[in-house]
Amino acid sequence: MNEEKRIEQDQKGTYNWNMIVALTLIPVIGVFGTGIYVYYQGIVWQEPIMLFILWFLSGMGITMGYHRLFAHKAYKTNSFVEWGLMIFGSMALENTILKWCSDHRIHHTKAETKEDPYSITEGFWHAHIGWIVKNGHDENNRVRGVKDLRSKSAIKFQNKHYFTIGIIGGFIIPMAIGFIYGRPMGALLWAGFLRLSIVHHATFFINSMCHYFGRQTYDINSTARDSWFVSWFTFGEGYHNYHHKFQWDYRNGVKWFAYDPSKWIIKGLSFVGITYDLKQVKQHVIEQNKLNNLKFQLFEMFKTSSDKLKMMYQNKAEKLSEKSEHLFYLWSEMELKYAEQLSKGTSKNKELMKRLHAERKKYKAQLNSIRIDVINMMTLMKRQKRQSSLM
Ligand SMILES: [Zn+2]
Ligand SMILES: [Zn+2]
Repeated sequence: MNEEKRIEQDQKGTYNWNMIVALTLIPVIGVFGTGIYVYYQGIVWQEPIMLFILWFLSGMGITMGYHRLFAHKAYKTNSFVEWGLMIFGSMALENTILKWCSDHRIHHTKAETKEDPYSITEGFWHAHIGWIVKNGHDENNRVRGVKDLRSKSAIKFQNKHYFTIGIIGGFIIPMAIGFIYGRPMGALLWAGFLRLSIVHHATFFINSMCHYFGRQTYDINSTARDSWFVSWFTFGEGYHNYHHKFQWDYRNGVKWFAYDPSKWIIKGLSFVGITYDLKQVKQHVIEQNKLNNLKFQLFEMFKTSSDKLKMMYQNKAEKLSEKSEHLFYLWSEMELKYAEQLSKGTSKNKELMKRLHAERKKYKAQLNSIRIDVINMMTLMKRQKRQSSLM
């Protein structure tokens, strides 16, 4: 057995006690320390406000920066914004961009396997926090598959000063602000420890809760799930089934009303040219995926159905499937045709866009009626299966 493998074997099942102490003390001080402080000293308005501002900044540093910009390259921006996101992300104390992105890219490419650092197949607790406090899960802290990021000036700087940036930005600056209004300890507890506990566990919930509870609208075979609930405290990262299916899309909450402030800010900044090259999955591809995912579940049901059920529904299901494939073909052809016309950049573009939206709506409505038929068929089949098992 080579040396590296031997160390890895020895480490399996052991714990990183420094990490355990840190990840225990932070929430204990954050929750109980702040609670005791409030009990004796009360609350002043500056403290919850500072907590929210720093929560927002460090949270966005992770979602907009570490995750969508650096790990997935879902959009581009200038180096000034990269530096800003690097500083804010460091304040979340979730490791350097290189290590975070290395783990995260492996999480996507090797999801649900032994190589996935926070694989849900090893349990909720492991995916949430266990993987951070256990030794031997990340091959001795090796950083892999992030060559493309190493040359960025913000990342080079962070590699040398990560911890200093995190401590100054996340603890010293709030404390200094606290001095101004006469409560440095209050500021440290609220904006430092309590804020960090929230940021940590919100991120951890994406790896645990979003691989456990929620809908699998886009890929039934992935453990990742869409949870609007988790999105509310992770700046839009809860739509995890969609994200695992289309990881390079700058949006996680793909519907316009889905709570995803990271998406709104990235899009908003693109109007003034600060962000650009936003990657986005085409609407018909998303619709196709959604329907194919349903069809997959329907055809899986036939595998365990009685001959009677197959006789009743299989033919109809195949016809619906063919119809939907034909519609997708027409839709994608239509998109190509319009893209070609729009690329000419004439004064008719506004009119063309209007027509394109109307055409899309038409296809969506037709596909939606197929989707409802498929769902109804699945419901009927489930009911009949249940009834025949009771007889
Ligand atoms: Zn995931
Ligand atoms: Zn991701």
